Amino acid sequence: MEKIDVVIVGGGLAGLSCAYKLAEKNMQVIVVERGGFPGSKNVTGGRLYLLPIKDLAGDMLDGAPFERKVVRERWSLLGKDNSISVDLMGEKFRTEDHSYTILRANFDRWFSDRLMEKGVFVIPKYRVDDLLWEGNRVIGIKAGDEEIYANIVVASDGVLSFMAEKAGLKPKMKPGNYAVGIKEVIELPEEKINDRFNVVNGEGCAQLFIGDVTKGIFGGGFLYTNKESISLGIVAGIKALMEKSPTIEAHTLIDTFKERYEVKRLIDGGNLLEYSAHIIPEGGYGGVSKLYGNGIIVVGDAAGFALNMGVTVRGMEFAIASGVIAAETIIHAKETDDYTEKTLSYYENRLKETFVMRDLQSFRNMPDFLDNDDLFTFYPRSFPDLLEKVMWFGGEPKERLGRTLWNELRNSGMLSFKRLKVLFGIKDI
Ligand SMILES: Cc1cc2nc3c(=O)[nH]c(=O)nc-3n(C[C@H](O)[C@H](O)[C@H](O)COP(=O)(O)OP(=O)(O)OC[C@H]3O[C@@H](n4cnc5c(N)ncnc54)[C@H](O)[C@@H]3O)c2cc1C
Repeated sequence: MEKIDVVIVGGGLAGLSCAYKLAEKNMQVIVVERGGFPGSKNVTGGRLYLLPIKDLAGDMLDGAPFERKVVRERWSLLGKDNSISVDLMGEKFRTEDHSYTILRANFDRWFSDRLMEKGVFVIPKYRVDDLLWEGNRVIGIKAGDEEIYANIVVASDGVLSFMAEKAGLKPKMKPGNYAVGIKEVIELPEEKINDRFNVVNGEGCAQLFIGDVTKGIFGGGFLYTNKESISLGIVAGIKALMEKSPTIEAHTLIDTFKERYEVKRLIDGGNLLEYSAHIIPEGGYGGVSKLYGNGIIVVGDAAGFALNMGVTVRGMEFAIASGVIAAETIIHAKETDDYTEKTLSYYENRLKETFVMRDLQSFRNMPDFLDNDDLFTFYPRSFPDLLEKVMWFGGEPKERLGRTLWNELRNSGMLSFKRLKVLFGIKDI
């Protein structure tokens, strides 16, 4: 039987990054992707942070089709019919290569073309059905009647990773460890985007929303400006959706979100270019799978490498970093001609030295902190209401501000012991 060095299942950022670094060492690599082309099945918000992967990526992303550099950050608390936004702008965001918005259909396609120039076979429309085994060791993949044998299989097949599951590496799926994201890409002229978001060509805005956007369900909304389009979407926790009474269909949330005054004006006159839905890993550190077995290594979302930090979602730079480190590991395994768990443990050890495992570890309490209904109902309603009372001048004489604030804080329940205790728990996240 003919054996190649590596077969990579899934042409997302994790798989493509791994392939790139292997190709640099002239290894024989095949990437198989079930979509019509890499990027066709991939969904992200999306903003890619570059600084964490600067050293790992090297020149890998030179010339990549970034949409806009994010120079403006906004967070909005949406009440029932009012909202508060915090808006951050800083020279640092403009001068440094901090983060960029991307569209995966363009980005992943560009990446796979770059790989093919380097001699990597990227095979689209190729859905892997199973792993091939020899004893307790993975020796290849099976798709329909076809079999490909390899020294090692890279499972980069995304959040639902059947490869990791078939290899017995994936923890049992719990609804609390996943969210569903629904996204629209809305076309708008570049000038309109610049005007509406007060940015210049090439610069853009990232905005997150919590509160009424998900009708109190764990999750939120996002908006990213691309060159000539806006990525708009919602994310809702699967467990919270299942427990919601009366039931809410996730797809209706994006329709009501788009009707909000705060959002409607930003996308007014736009054409819908793309509609997609995807699952997101939300388990954090506790949701990470076993990372390798004999002849197999798991990267990106397939391994559970994504981090919801409340103020931002990070998954893509985790996918890229884990793909690159998996490649390093495979190169090391080839040198010793040993693809057993013993050699592959290098992968986990290296990840522990990088932001991948360190950030997941630092924010390991985040899923528990975010599992708090108040964050999605009580606070997004109370703060805008409080500010509205301060700013409202009605027919009656105005109360002293101190009294208004005190009465609101006390009557709303914001000062309750239970809530303060949870908020002070912030030090643990
Ligand atoms: C709505 C939403 C918003 C997000 N926002 C952000 C953000 O702003 N910033 C950020 O950093 N992260 C964000 N993320 C997370 C980020 O998109 C993911 O972490 C990242 O895409 C993971 O990359 P990956 O390569 O591991 O997996 P994927 O991109 O999912 O790639 C997996 C690939 O495997 C292929 N595949 C699956 N099964 C098979 C099979 N059997 N055979 C062959 N091919 C197969 C799929 O078609 C796919 O191309 C968001 C995610 C979602 C859903």
